[in-house]
Amino acid sequence: MELFWSNMRFQLAAAAVLAVVLINYFNMKRVHRLSTLLFTLMLLCAAANLIFDISTVYTITHMDVIPPWVNRLCHQCFIGTLDLLVYLMYLYVETLGRNEQRLSKWKYLLVSLPFMAAIASVVMGELQYYNDGKIVYSYGAMALALYICIAFYMCLANARVLFGRAAYSKRIRGAVRGGIFIWIAVTLIQYRFKGWLMSSIAVALMMLHLYLSLEDPSEHYDRAACSFTRRAFEMILAERYAKHKKFCVMCLMLENMRNIKSKYGFSAADMLTNTLVALLTRVTDAPVYRYHDDALCVLLNSEERAQGYLDRLVMLVEKAQTQYHIYLRGHYHIVLLDCPRLAPDADSVLQTLDYLSYRAGRTVYIVDDEIIKQKNRRAAIERLVEEALENDGFNVVYQPIYAPAAKAFNSAEALVRLKTNEETGFVSPDEFIPIAERRGIVDRIDEIVLNKVCDFAARERLWEKGVAYIEVNLSGAQASDPVLVDTYAAILERYGVPARFLNFEITETCAVEAGETTQNNMRRFEQMGCSFSIDDFGTGYSNLAQLSKMTYDLMKIDKGLIWDSFSEGGAHTFVVLSSVVSMAKKLGKGLVAEGVETQAQAEKLIDMGVDHLQGYFYSKPIPEEQYLAFLKQKNAQ
Ligand code: C2E
Ligand code: CA
Ligand code: CA
Repeated sequence: MELFWSNMRFQLAAAAVLAVVLINYFNMKRVHRLSTLLFTLMLLCAAANLIFDISTVYTITHMDVIPPWVNRLCHQCFIGTLDLLVYLMYLYVETLGRNEQRLSKWKYLLVSLPFMAAIASVVMGELQYYNDGKIVYSYGAMALALYICIAFYMCLANARVLFGRAAYSKRIRGAVRGGIFIWIAVTLIQYRFKGWLMSSIAVALMMLHLYLSLEDPSEHYDRAACSFTRRAFEMILAERYAKHKKFCVMCLMLENMRNIKSKYGFSAADMLTNTLVALLTRVTDAPVYRYHDDALCVLLNSEERAQGYLDRLVMLVEKAQTQYHIYLRGHYHIVLLDCPRLAPDADSVLQTLDYLSYRAGRTVYIVDDEIIKQKNRRAAIERLVEEALENDGFNVVYQPIYAPAAKAFNSAEALVRLKTNEETGFVSPDEFIPIAERRGIVDRIDEIVLNKVCDFAARERLWEKGVAYIEVNLSGAQASDPVLVDTYAAILERYGVPARFLNFEITETCAVEAGETTQNNMRRFEQMGCSFSIDDFGTGYSNLAQLSKMTYDLMKIDKGLIWDSFSEGGAHTFVVLSSVVSMAKKLGKGLVAEGVETQAQAEKLIDMGVDHLQGYFYSKPIPEEQYLAFLKQKNAQ
């Protein structure tokens, strides 16, 4: 018995290391990847190998009482599991390849030959046992085949990461090399000192190393959110595509997560997300990936199956809201995306999900060709806007504004135009400005517009041509930029444009929601001499009390309100319009009516006392040259 224990030091250390890895690993939820599955198998194989290792030491030190066939069987299992382990490790390295390309069947067969030969030697090969009363070990054909097997697969794995560089990230290459180094170092020591039974500690250290560097499940699983991470989702997607089989992505999207957080608090939002994760798991019985804070995805085998889950899922989501008193109604939607039919690769899945996360209005979006077309148009516009920022791809046009009191067009609104290509055709700012807002680049567009306006105004000395000011749109993001005033003041100075020549339009919604910075910016601009308009008045659900406290000069009545008031059956809206006009008068604000399209509208509005009129009836937005000609012709009359 003493001999047994004296030969057990390395195994006991290995058992301790392996136990730590096993407990940590199996306590966590793991991503369902092929490489993770292989790693799990390797771990189980390592555990089995350790048990057989210990039993061989026992049988070899008790050969007098143990029948030889038991001793041989234990050795066979020990060496066999070790052969299997190195073979699995090679397969594992193979599947870690980033391009997810698998070897062909023939190549697999070829690289499996040494493993098969090693297994054959385990079944038939001879094995001798050494026992000098102090140290024990085994040797012979079976052990030799094992050494060859280890050397072969370690060299192959190393060659894989060395020559297949593009397919492996630096981190994976480093981790694999580290694993191989441990194997080689320990095998050499073992070869030199035959009595040191170190294979199990080599295995345990290698598993620990791979676990820490590549396979820690907590890297892909968010315990607090009870779901897998976005990165895990991307990995699984890549793997699904490599399989060339159809599948369906089902995604539950929450549209107003930000509002929920601010209204109910972060912990309530977390609780809600966790409940939704649990619901998705319950209904689909599949792992849930948290693609975004507000998008939960599962992968299913077919769209038909996903459709079968829909009713129950919607019902449970509705129920969950009452449970937590958080009302999502109308603020969530479920997306079904049939792959690879509608998304040829993983990137297009992510793009489609991103695109649909902005959509609202329906509870279920089953992605079809039409949605894909819209998504592609959006992507094309995004590219166009990005390019336009780099290559002077924007123009500014001017829409003259008529002032009945002066009987002149003494102001104009500057409107941006995107130079487009054939693929997209004309793109209205109504389409690309919201996209630019989402991408956080609208402020750059606004700045370009201001530069062009100032350049034009200074070049043509517009203020000497009867133009009192130009209205320039300011997006919400821009209005709340703390360095806005300094940047804009520098632009005005550079061109020598007087501040009073600029009127900034901010939307009604932006004005009502204006935080400290926006209000501060507005005050500073006003001190400089710039004026302000509240754009699109009548579209938001204004807090009139808040609006009345703000300093601005003009109220621009939204074209929708104008059109409705003059439409058939618009009597009620006309009452609203009249009250807006009288309210503006009482508040001492100037009024601009947008979207004036007919003479009748113009006359009526002038009659009501509207100070400025803008619309196709007078002129569409026109380029610089045309605008100059327009001024010359109209203002001279
Ligand atoms: P907006 O500020 O309400 O601009 C008025 C829009 O109404 C312009 O559309 C103008 O061409 C259009 N319009 C004017 N009169 C009539 C009319 O009689 N009938 C009709 N049907 N339409 C009329 P546009 O140029 O397509 O601009 C759309 C929106 O894009 C603008 O709405 C504004 O919100 C945004 N936008 C335009 N230029 C800029 C810019 O430089 N910066 C920012 N941030 N937003 C801009
Ligand atoms: Ca405007
Ligand atoms: Ca407007």
